[in-house]
Amino acid sequence: MPAPTDDSADCIFCKIIASASPVAEHGACFAFHDKYPVTDGHLLIVPKRHAPDYFSLTADEKKDADYLLHQLREAIQQEDPSVTGFNIGINNGFDAGQTVFHCHIHLIPRRKGDCENPRGGVRGVIPGKRGY
Ligand code: 5GP
Ligand code: ZN
Repeated sequence: MPAPTDDSADCIFCKIIASASPVAEHGACFAFHDKYPVTDGHLLIVPKRHAPDYFSLTADEKKDADYLLHQLREAIQQEDPSVTGFNIGINNGFDAGQTVFHCHIHLIPRRKGDCENPRGGVRGVIPGKRGY
């Protein structure tokens, strides 16, 4: 596992922002498909600026990310009516599971029956703690 870096020159997401077409973009933020999606349509919303985590974002970056979350939710549901819910998640820090140290918000579409028992959702960040 490589050590966490905040060097934007080595950052895969900075490279994507510089060279790939976004699924959507708004102001200071950019959205693209996750390369290893948890479900079909899994997107990542990132600030264009290399900022390591959510707590480093400016108010404008948070506002623009929120706009994209709403816009993309709408677009996904219109395109795919099988989507009946979403998980929104941010891993902040190595110990919280973060692997790419350029802030990103996971937007994960959910569908009825996509797992045996969805109860607890993001509580599953600690295996075995999802149900309560
Ligand atoms: P984290 O664990 O840091 O919250 O999530 C990093 C996410 O980035 C993972 O869901 C992973 O699939 C995604 N990812 C890793 N490398 C790449 C890449 O090169 N391109 C894209 N589009 N997504 C990536
Ligand atoms: Zn970066």
